[in-house]
Amino acid sequence: MCGITAFSGKGPALPFLMQGLSKLEYRGYDSAGVTTIENSGLKTVKCKGRLAQLETKLEDYHLEGHVGIGHTRWATHGIPSHLNSHPHTNGDETISLVHNGIIENYKELKDELLEHGYHFHSETDSEVVVLLLDYYYQGDMLEATRKVIERIEGSYALCIITTHEPDQIIVVKKDSPLIIGKCDGAYVAASDIPALLEYTKDVYFLDDYEIAVLKTDSITFLNKNFRTIKKELVTVPYDLEAAKKDGYDTFMLKEIFEQPHVIQETLRGRIQDETIKLDELDNIDFKQFNKVHFVACGTAYHASLCGAHILEHLIKVPVFKDVASEYRYNDPVIDEKTLCIFVSQSGETADTLAALRLAKSKGATTIAVANVLGSTISRDADYVLYTCAGPEIAVASTKAYTTQLVLLILFAYYVAQQFGHVDLKAIHELKDLPNLVQKILGDIDSFEQFASLLEHQRDAYFIGRGLDYTSVLEGALKLKEVSYIHADAYVAGELKHGPIALIEEGSIVIAVATQPHIAAKTMSNIQETIARGAEVILITNSLNPPIDARYTYVLPYVSPILQTILVAIPLQLMAYFAANIKGCDVDKPRNLAKSVTVE
Ligand code: GLU
Repeated sequence: MCGITAFSGKGPALPFLMQGLSKLEYRGYDSAGVTTIENSGLKTVKCKGRLAQLETKLEDYHLEGHVGIGHTRWATHGIPSHLNSHPHTNGDETISLVHNGIIENYKELKDELLEHGYHFHSETDSEVVVLLLDYYYQGDMLEATRKVIERIEGSYALCIITTHEPDQIIVVKKDSPLIIGKCDGAYVAASDIPALLEYTKDVYFLDDYEIAVLKTDSITFLNKNFRTIKKELVTVPYDLEAAKKDGYDTFMLKEIFEQPHVIQETLRGRIQDETIKLDELDNIDFKQFNKVHFVACGTAYHASLCGAHILEHLIKVPVFKDVASEYRYNDPVIDEKTLCIFVSQSGETADTLAALRLAKSKGATTIAVANVLGSTISRDADYVLYTCAGPEIAVASTKAYTTQLVLLILFAYYVAQQFGHVDLKAIHELKDLPNLVQKILGDIDSFEQFASLLEHQRDAYFIGRGLDYTSVLEGALKLKEVSYIHADAYVAGELKHGPIALIEEGSIVIAVATQPHIAAKTMSNIQETIARGAEVILITNSLNPPIDARYTYVLPYVSPILQTILVAIPLQLMAYFAANIKGCDVDKPRNLAKSVTVE
């Protein structure tokens, strides 16, 4: 995820490019850059760091070109660095482009270009595209673009400029956003509406595979088959503040709704021909380990519990899990035969980092699961797997959690492959997850209704068994984080050993029962709470649950291992609406910080 801007018009391009990037910084901010077409040729200025650093650097240049492109990066391929930052240019600096997305087949294209004698300056997948344009260019950049689109796989929004045709920008997209604006004396493009609003509210929405050619006073649209098409100009009603949230009231809700997309991005390129591919881990012989440790904090710990449960179930090697702040002081048994997995959205969590360093010092093999490329934990670990959630702004994690679940499940299946275990049904279902999550999001009104039960509650009790227990732990955490309702999660079978003493008339019990081998037992435990006056919200995949719950939500039925990902959505939305009814600041809950870099 990154932000891109483009301008072709009468005045200088730079002011639009920079104000647009400032509105898009929420999409990524590890480096930034611009290219404009000056009289002397292409001029590219870029640097590692936030936009403010680029602004300072630009003070030494006088960019006056009327055509230009800009980028603020969220690295996916190659660490944040000057060389990896966009725009990328070809060798003789006649073509420049910015890219948002992931080119899945970049390795094979890179090998091909290397054979043709091309040199690469960055580690990015994006540079492949500009060199491929160079390779195909024979006097018509649109034709070269057509050929490149035929070759590249993955997701992309691209803005391409060239000194050969200096009065235009070619833009094209697939699975990454790109919106075009019509201004007085200019056509502009950006990844998101906030970047356009200071200049125009009249926009064209580009669909996948559509191409637009932007000039100062004309625009041409082409469809997938390169036929000219007409597009409708739409006036957006947004004000700037609302637009940053894409029309949602809060970042948390926006991020909950981004989950189908970011799950798709996290899966991208990792399932091929019914096998899981995690090239990053290809050098590891997993049979050498006699135990595995999962270590994390907060929400990432809950995702780890799920990953640990599944891995142990699949490979039958002992798997331990611990919260990082305990692990490092508990004198854990670690040696060269230990595999340690550290999960952290930011990759900077102080407790997790300290635990990682401890494990390394004792000879373990370490793998980081992080969302921020180049973060300390991802750099310190022996191996790293990245979730592709994009920047998460709301403090309470939603999309980072579900992408961690997806990645840890992919990881468990990947390791299981080495042990000869393949679950084709689950692999097929993994691909369908984005659609299923989308379907559940369509039932948002139900979750708002369920949450109304929580409005005047001081407490809520979450129960589940097995993997459902890992889900309710996260559900309870989410509720307390954003609504300040005291919520506890219990293993359903443990209720009778103590906590059931708390249940009285009107207590709220949120129960999850999706694991077929144990669901009947959970149902009995739910019944026990109803008998004591509890009002139950039941999340299940059973069509006719034998329970007189106040509310029941039936999830799509998938393999038990994948069910945790679907369960997360109703629990997130209930927490969100409970906080909303109580008037809480859901994006910035009291006392919490997004990246916990203190012990
Ligand atoms: N894959 C590209 C890179 O790593 C673009 C990432 C983005 O969308 O910011 O540079």
